[in-house]
Amino acid sequence: MKIKLLDGSIKEFDQAMNVKSIAEAIAISLKKATTAAKVNGRYVSVDYIVGKDSTLELITTKHEDFYKTLNYTAAFVTGVAISELFKDVKLAKVLYKEDELEYGITFEVEPRIGLEEMQNIQNKVNQIIKNDSIISREMELKEAEELFNDNEYQKHLAKEMFKTYGEVSVYTLNGVSIVSKHPIALNLKNIKVVEVQQLTGEYWLNHSDNIMLQKIHGMAAESIETLTAKKDILEDRRSRDHRIINKTLKIFGFDHLVGPGLPLWMPNGTIIKEQIKNFIKEKEWEYDYINVTTPVIGTVELYKKSGHWDHYGEDMFQPFNGGSGSDEQFILRPMNCPHHVAVYKQEQRSYRDLPLRIAEHALQHRYESSGSLTGLERVRAMELTDSHIFVRPDQVEAEFKSIYKMINEVLQTFNIQIDYLSLSLRDPEDKVKYYQDDKMWDEAEAALEKVLQDLKIDYKKCIGEAAFYGPKLDIQIKTAQNHEITVSTIQLDFLLPKKFDVTYVDQNQEFKAPIMIHRGVIGTYERFIATLLEQTKGVLPLWLAPNQVEIIPVGSEENIAYAQEVRKYLKKDFVRTHVDLRDERLSYKIRDAQTSKIPYQLVIGDQERKDNLVTYRQYGSEQQTTVKLEEFKNMILDLICNKK
Ligand code: ATP
Ligand code: ZN
Repeated sequence: MKIKLLDGSIKEFDQAMNVKSIAEAIAISLKKATTAAKVNGRYVSVDYIVGKDSTLELITTKHEDFYKTLNYTAAFVTGVAISELFKDVKLAKVLYKEDELEYGITFEVEPRIGLEEMQNIQNKVNQIIKNDSIISREMELKEAEELFNDNEYQKHLAKEMFKTYGEVSVYTLNGVSIVSKHPIALNLKNIKVVEVQQLTGEYWLNHSDNIMLQKIHGMAAESIETLTAKKDILEDRRSRDHRIINKTLKIFGFDHLVGPGLPLWMPNGTIIKEQIKNFIKEKEWEYDYINVTTPVIGTVELYKKSGHWDHYGEDMFQPFNGGSGSDEQFILRPMNCPHHVAVYKQEQRSYRDLPLRIAEHALQHRYESSGSLTGLERVRAMELTDSHIFVRPDQVEAEFKSIYKMINEVLQTFNIQIDYLSLSLRDPEDKVKYYQDDKMWDEAEAALEKVLQDLKIDYKKCIGEAAFYGPKLDIQIKTAQNHEITVSTIQLDFLLPKKFDVTYVDQNQEFKAPIMIHRGVIGTYERFIATLLEQTKGVLPLWLAPNQVEIIPVGSEENIAYAQEVRKYLKKDFVRTHVDLRDERLSYKIRDAQTSKIPYQLVIGDQERKDNLVTYRQYGSEQQTTVKLEEFKNMILDLICNKK
């Protein structure tokens, strides 16, 4: 048989061999370093027998899946520890979350395990990883079902695995077995530390109709140093998590009666959102957009005609009736494109009217799965900085350039760190997903690529990632939780104008279909503000900070009165301030203002009052500066005006 290795080289063997022996045949040191493997893309143990031509990836201690392997193994070991400590434990699933760098194992046991048992479990785990090793076997479904006769979870996993692979991988340690399609190391000597950390619950298969299983979380690593390093990464991520930052900044909230994923913008959040909105509207003014306002609902027919109905289906809030007894059906719109098409069609447009740039800061709703809801990053009610631009084919290139320029200026103003730009193209082989018109696609894709090359922009070509209606450029970033998300997007669409019979009259008085460009300049406010909070760690620039200046009077009543005057004086120029009148020490108030990340703190004492001065200190700096009140005002107005 021929075995193709990761580096592309091919080794030949004249008999079936297990992974371990193949590794040894390549190099003795490889046998020692191999913890598990991938054969034809499927995870297997080192005892797995390869009997035919295959591709083989050895998961050595240097492989990207090594950490994953350690953690799945540690999850199983934890399950074995629980099974040894308690009676009649039914193990369910071993889990590993790449984003959270932690493993989990779900199980069922009566009575339920309490937190006080965690230390015992930890001790047992330590003992197992020192002394024992795992064995693995491939079996037929029937054999697995007999083995797991009284464990319906393993039976379910065995069935699933058999369906995909035609055999079931069973791992056994000290008489306890599980089914796993994930990599598990048989030799435990590579796991130097396992830390059992948390006890929670999880529905079987994440479905709320199913039983709530118990779940133990933990982390595993090949050394204490690696574990500490992974914990530091997690700690940094947590400190940037917008949901945690929100606890001090009070930007948004949720209420389970209002509904999951339906954000309440609190006063601070509303200020930030409005400031950003003003800025985007200024930019839209500069780039000759027209703003419209359209309703958040539309008839079902509208979305059937647009194709969203077929394409979006379950991700939409389901249709509702108009009045009682009425059979008119409406939906909460998941996107605004058809409404903007309707705006376009209010008049017959001519070639001179194009490009027509219709913009709306538009509310839309999507029924995202409850498991995917993540603070403001993924919600069910959102406001998109949306626009649909109608252009003639000869205008695509110039318009695309101009949109890109606008987006770039906006993102630079916020100092957003971009991960990469994705030019999403069609897969020409895929005749099902994509609207079929090769000439149109070729021209549009070439036009977009030309623009990117003209502008000397680095981008990744992603074949098969285009929307069904046209190619697009997405601006991708990484969140603190390591999710890859799209912030801004420019999408060409040839299809929607055709579906709605959208036209313009050209020079020869003929009706032509314009091309539509969908553009989200910063995506939704929800996702964008989540990103902003994560990238700034909550230290917002002055122009966005909900409270820009904290005024702290010290000493006499007269100084308090002066502080109030300073507030009024700044307020006239729309500077957002707050006077701290609490009966606390100055040092405490200053520390508090720092924790709340307020850009400027003013300390007002006798001297300041007498000479109409203020003493200010900037966030994160120890330096104090005393200036005339007017000078301070001019300084910060200047900064605000320049979006600093
Ligand atoms: P995703 O792949 O993240 O679900 P999408 O590709 O469906 O997004 P689009 O339809 O292109 O998103 O929507 C445009 C923008 O809307 C995205 O770039 C993103 O900023 C935002 N967005 C989409 N879904 C959500 C959501 N559930 N919560 C918050 N913002 C969202
Ligand atoms: Zn659109």
